[in-house]
Amino acid sequence: MSGNILEVTGLTQHFKVGRHAVVHAVDGVSFSIRRGQTLGLVGESGCGKSSCARSIIRVYDPTGGTIVLDGEDITHMSQKELQPRRRKMQMIFQDPYASLNARMTVRDIIAEPLLAHRVVKTKKEANDYVYPMLERVGLTAEHAGRYAHEFSGGQRQRVGIARALILQPDLVICDEPISALDVSIQAQVVNLLRDYQQEQGLAYLFIAHDLSMVRYVSDVVGVMYLGQLVELCAAEEIYDNPVHPYTQGLLSSIPVADPKLARQKDKSGIEGDLPSPVEPPSGCRFHTRCPFAKDVCSQQTPPMREAAPGHQVACHLCG
Ligand code: SF4
Repeated sequence: MSGNILEVTGLTQHFKVGRHAVVHAVDGVSFSIRRGQTLGLVGESGCGKSSCARSIIRVYDPTGGTIVLDGEDITHMSQKELQPRRRKMQMIFQDPYASLNARMTVRDIIAEPLLAHRVVKTKKEANDYVYPMLERVGLTAEHAGRYAHEFSGGQRQRVGIARALILQPDLVICDEPISALDVSIQAQVVNLLRDYQQEQGLAYLFIAHDLSMVRYVSDVVGVMYLGQLVELCAAEEIYDNPVHPYTQGLLSSIPVADPKLARQKDKSGIEGDLPSPVEPPSGCRFHTRCPFAKDVCSQQTPPMREAAPGHQVACHLCG
């Protein structure tokens, strides 16, 4: 099957705080994800990645824009209308401990979506799905009767992945699924997600706070800054030819193991703190931290345009 499983156009998510203040969490974000592909969404903490994910999965009602899942506009669907469509789109959370019910056994946690979506009628029937899935994510039938607190962080995330995959969704939103794990475990979890994608052809929206984390999982990478998408292109292109100064800064802050290469590496990084999303800077939101900023940058918002075929960038210096 071909085509896009998800199309997000001009997605905007604002939150009122207090009487007059508004948090501009997401502002006009557009991208699409093809079936079987992974789009990595990257940016510093507080740049709006998770708000974007939660708007797409309709935890929040979007302030503006459209979300099309498998050809259907779900932007304004009621929760009742969404219920049968949720089977197509599942989520893996950053903190596997907080996202798992401490009073339920692993078997019941993984079986819950099957029962909620009436794939099976009884817990006994659910076992036919739960046990193979436990093995698929690297756990065993012996783990089924245990509780989340009895597991390590990596094992808990495997339970969270099993719960997300049990309905065989077309799209899984992975919200920083490896950030809370030991480095030694991160690669195992990433490999598990990749292997399952190759077997089942599902798509991922993979959210991370640095570019090194999405490198080996993404077909396409989008970089977000303060609620806006600033660069979007094929994964290898963003590492070989980053165009936006913010992307260049993110890449230069990735540690390099080889000391010789590390000495040669541009140390520019990104200076200063992320401005408040309550009153984002005018024009290009990155102008307060950009080493190349000109007068025009604080006056006009740069539109997203093609720096090269399939490579979109929002910067006045580009094009
Ligand atoms: Fe920097 Fe200006 Fe480009 Fe923004 S538009 S990234 S401030 S050069």
